[in-house]
Amino acid sequence: SVPLSFFGGIGAASKAGILIKGSNYIEALANAETVVFDKTGTLTKGTFEVTKIAPLQISKDKLLEYAAYAECYSSHPIALSLKKSYGNPIDTNMVSDIEEISGHGIKAVVNGVVVHVGNSKLMNQIQVEIPAHSSTGTTVHISADYQYAGYITISDQVKSDSKSAITSIKALGVKTTVMLTGDQKAVGEMVASELGIDKVRTELLPVDKVNEVEKLLEETSQTGKLIFVGDGINDAPVLTRSDIGIAMGGLGSDAAIEAADIVIMTDEPSKVATVIAISRKTLRIVK
Ligand code: ADP
Ligand code: MG
Repeated sequence: SVPLSFFGGIGAASKAGILIKGSNYIEALANAETVVFDKTGTLTKGTFEVTKIAPLQISKDKLLEYAAYAECYSSHPIALSLKKSYGNPIDTNMVSDIEEISGHGIKAVVNGVVVHVGNSKLMNQIQVEIPAHSSTGTTVHISADYQYAGYITISDQVKSDSKSAITSIKALGVKTTVMLTGDQKAVGEMVASELGIDKVRTELLPVDKVNEVEKLLEETSQTGKLIFVGDGINDAPVLTRSDIGIAMGGLGSDAAIEAADIVIMTDEPSKVATVIAISRKTLRIVK
């Protein structure tokens, strides 16, 4: 049976905007040893700003138009920022055969042109060569009919409470903090070092994230627990695989909220420390 004060713990969490889906997670949270974060939308705002538009042989407007049209139905943070930057209404009748390729980008036929929008993995996959370029931030490459059309650089911002989230989690005695991301190496490593995160793995596909979590589970002690925290875009498998899966409610997808054991309604990563602290306190009352 469940000790009565566990409900007190769930109630205290709920007042802080944290939904704990079962009393069994209280004990697991109190024994958190490894906390793994997804980057985009979890530690960063996930609202990218376009900082550079670099077309090849077409206009900047045309390049952005290709990107926004191809992304017309996507809710990926990158898609949303491209559409916002484009700013104009999109005639979806012009777009067909959309295929979102998880961890890579998107393919669509825009007004009869086969458009690809995504990272270097996507361009490699379709054998489009990327010319030498320089950019700081996340680079989104665009091709039209399998010819390189240019790139758009976007950059995200770290959430204001991410740094204190990591500091508080460490102060609670959590041994290892980790960040996993599908984003580029330079971007991921910069965010991790800014936040003081112990380990970082970049350029991961959703399946690679599951493999990384499995490795980290092996490195976690018998009594220690592994928490994964994600915003939900493509995160459902890894949320399920972890000892405790925490979804950020705000940007999070329905699938992630479903797959998660705990939901943080407010999008603040510092609430991870809050819920660990509440669990510890609850257990002290029980014992
Ligand atoms: P993260 O791990 O940072 O949350 P994702 O797994 O969602 O990132 O995506 C990994 C990478 O795949 C992105 O950084 C981007 O390069 C590319 N990508 C994924 N979806 C899209 C899309 N709809 N449009 C453009 N690029 C995308
Ligand atoms: Mg993500």
